[in-house]
Amino acid sequence: MLKIGSHVSFSDKGLLSATKEASLYGSSSFMIYTGAPQNTRRKPMESMYLDEGKQLMKELGMEEIVVHAPYIINLGSYKENTYELAVSFLQEEIRRTHAIGVRNIVLHPGAYTDKDPEYGINRIAEGLNEVLNGVKETDVNIALETMAGKGTEIGRSFEELAAIMDKVEYNERLTVCMDTCHIHDAGYDIVNNLDGVLEEFDRIVGLDRIAVVHLNDSKNPAAAGKDRHAPIGSGWIGFETIRNVVHHDALKGRPFILETPWIGKDAKTQRPMYEAEIALLRGDVAERFGQDFMNQIEDLHSFFSKQDVDSRQFVLDTWTLLKNDAKAKKADPREPLERLYDQVAEAGLFTELTEEQINHRLIAWLAGKQLLVNA
Ligand SMILES: [Zn+2]
Repeated sequence: MLKIGSHVSFSDKGLLSATKEASLYGSSSFMIYTGAPQNTRRKPMESMYLDEGKQLMKELGMEEIVVHAPYIINLGSYKENTYELAVSFLQEEIRRTHAIGVRNIVLHPGAYTDKDPEYGINRIAEGLNEVLNGVKETDVNIALETMAGKGTEIGRSFEELAAIMDKVEYNERLTVCMDTCHIHDAGYDIVNNLDGVLEEFDRIVGLDRIAVVHLNDSKNPAAAGKDRHAPIGSGWIGFETIRNVVHHDALKGRPFILETPWIGKDAKTQRPMYEAEIALLRGDVAERFGQDFMNQIEDLHSFFSKQDVDSRQFVLDTWTLLKNDAKAKKADPREPLERLYDQVAEAGLFTELTEEQINHRLIAWLAGKQLLVNA
């Protein structure tokens, strides 16, 4: 079964709440942080409903989930206290990950700050050696994430990941989390040459190292070095490429995890698009959402085609305008999805639907007409 899901919350009743949230989106996998990603406060694992969560996961057929390490961990830091905190806290996170019964913890390799990439790679490898030496009683692998290359972060190229692995003694415990937004932003052309990118990864790191895939569209063009996620189909990568990633033979069996932003005009009532994204990528939209939903997608296709709006062109043109025309951006900073939502709302198209429901349908419209043909 395709393992696909999103980042979900591990607060309240821990693994039980996370599993319930994931099932609301129709997920067959999910990813959690064991606590706030930006600090080191953690509740004891005894209070995280692990048995109840595992039981529910089993009932729902969720075989594999993923933990993400907090971003405050920087194994690339030359500052002694930052580095030592990174080592000891990552070890604690690995023990927690082991207790949950999870095989891979995703880690941003680190940033070299005031030093240079070579220093960063050596320091991160030194840190990983130290970390792995202290957690031999666990069977958790560290999945180094491919990074976009913003600031001084390491992992922007497949070579950097390979160089780290080369220097780590127990590197059989190092895997990779491939993030679609990050590799696109780092300059790997997955839109026009996904096979070539995966072949390149295979040559330099090895496809068998990939243990997790993060699915995100990107608010920036390829090679921008930025790292800003967009809902699937609403960014520069597009639905088709991300669907090809999910169904690529070379990535079969891996958990695919969405980290797409929640959307909505008011920050307080924003909602995730995961349920629509998952159904679209899995290919069971009609089963999940029903015939009314499919009819409404058809309505969207005729509504926008009457105005000569092509979904892919609209998304790319809007991002290009926002990127290249500062004056136009100042006058109207709305991103593609918000502009589309406003058009639908102004036309009074689906007055019976909530903002979230309309956005779900827009996400499905962005996935293209093929969706209606297949249904
Ligand atoms: Zn990440």
